[in-house]
Amino acid sequence: RHADAPFRLAVVGSGPAGFYTAYRVMSKLPQARVDMYEALPVPFGLVRHGVAPDHPEVKNCQEKFDEVATSPNFTFVGNVSIGLPGHQSEHCTIPLKVLTSHYDSILFAYGASEDKKLHIPGESSLNGIYSARQFVGWYNGHPDCTELAPDLSRSEEAVIIGQGNVALDVARILLEDVDVLRKTDISETALAQLAQSRVKRVHVVGRRGPMQAAFTIKEVRELMKLSDVSFHGVDNSLMPEALDTLPRAAKRLMEVLRKGTPTNPSNTPKSWSLDSCLSPKAFVGSKLNPSHVGGTEFYVTKLEDPFNPRSSVSLTEETMTLPSDIAFRSVGYKSVALPGFAEAGIHFDEKRGVIKNDGVGRAIQLPTDTGNSIETQPSALPGVYCAGWVKNGPTGVIASTMRDAFITGDAVVQDWLSGAPFLGSSANGTAEGWAAVSADVGALSKQVVTWDQWRQIDQAERERGSEKGKERDKFTDVGDMLNSIT
Ligand code: FAD
Repeated sequence: RHADAPFRLAVVGSGPAGFYTAYRVMSKLPQARVDMYEALPVPFGLVRHGVAPDHPEVKNCQEKFDEVATSPNFTFVGNVSIGLPGHQSEHCTIPLKVLTSHYDSILFAYGASEDKKLHIPGESSLNGIYSARQFVGWYNGHPDCTELAPDLSRSEEAVIIGQGNVALDVARILLEDVDVLRKTDISETALAQLAQSRVKRVHVVGRRGPMQAAFTIKEVRELMKLSDVSFHGVDNSLMPEALDTLPRAAKRLMEVLRKGTPTNPSNTPKSWSLDSCLSPKAFVGSKLNPSHVGGTEFYVTKLEDPFNPRSSVSLTEETMTLPSDIAFRSVGYKSVALPGFAEAGIHFDEKRGVIKNDGVGRAIQLPTDTGNSIETQPSALPGVYCAGWVKNGPTGVIASTMRDAFITGDAVVQDWLSGAPFLGSSANGTAEGWAAVSADVGALSKQVVTWDQWRQIDQAERERGSEKGKERDKFTDVGDMLNSIT
């Protein structure tokens, strides 16, 4: 095929993976038309609803995304969920099979909308246990998380299970001065609740030690720099005495942990610690209110080789309990399959929570039962691709998601130019994209939010924000977002 042949791509999800892949494809195929479907009326995925409010510089990528979206070859189809029922009644849901018949290609970039569970007693029966994903969504104004209302006024101690960057974000938001947060785009509801918070002591708990933790130095440094917050120090036996032998990144991280804060917990109102070698066993009810969590019981673990970043870990018989009336589970996000995947022959790896792909981003076909045996040679599904967290699992920052999205984008372009088969409608170049989809879904298409309408929402949020001395005051309700469109 020629680079000028018309090409219609549907992108599901408007986070970094969707935008960077669209950008790559559009810059290499001048005739590519991209329609981006987003479940919320507002774009940018975790850049808007995940990245911490006190990290505004991280959100600069939105300018690039806006540039992509204003291309005449790009259409934003907001407030439209593909396959899954919408977040709220105002959303419109379009079955996957409607898309497959009107595009040459579909890119799945819908991120990870659930989280991993601990599967321990008390987790789903006791009050006061929150998923870090929902807590993050709540303070960032995600419409699905407005109901969370975590009670931060019960307890001076908080336990966060997990030692990744999300856990450190949660710790920082719990400990940060509310007047610092007030100037950010944190949700007003969260701000009000954080202002009432009694939390003074945060335990960030991991199964292994500092040498194995998943967080990065930037997030640790930020916690160390919070005013009036000190660090309890790490167990020195879990890191080598001579740090010089370590690779540079590990050495710098260990140095920061060893140095800690200039203050100590006895002379600051708030503090935090990294609690190593503890594996959650059960949440236990509080004595005063047995339906509410009062503590978390842990097995003490043993590291095979504490200084080895890949050290295995085993449980000992020893247990200990950290008392706290509030606990957060921060052990990872998780993607789910969209309804219609099996019908479309898309193989979703339930265990890893990713769309099975060839490593480059070509979705792999569901194995077909040939009667005698299951086919062993999985092949790529023509025209179906994936990028971002739904391709690789919930790891990586925006920069790595961008690099990876470019790899997927290059595969799309390469396959198209090589004349490889694509989705059905491509053979005669008649894929009509959103125009045909909107005709298929009839009145539902009236609920769609366009890019210009998103800009009106954006403008309204900025105006609300400027009245309060902050960059924006986000709408946290889909109805309010839609009402701000004139
Ligand atoms: P997402 O950003 O999640 O985008 C997916 C989009 O798809 C969403 O808009 C969602 O609404 C939409 N969607 C879902 N289902 C459907 C459907 N059925 N139909 C239509 N649309 C759908 N990275 C940094 O570089 N710096 C940071 O400081 C940083 N902080 C982070 C903090 C947190 C708490 C988290 C969770 C991540 C953070 N990251 C940070 C990582 C970064 O956000 C991710 O790498 C990146 O957003 C992943 O991009 P994605 O496009 O795969 O998914």
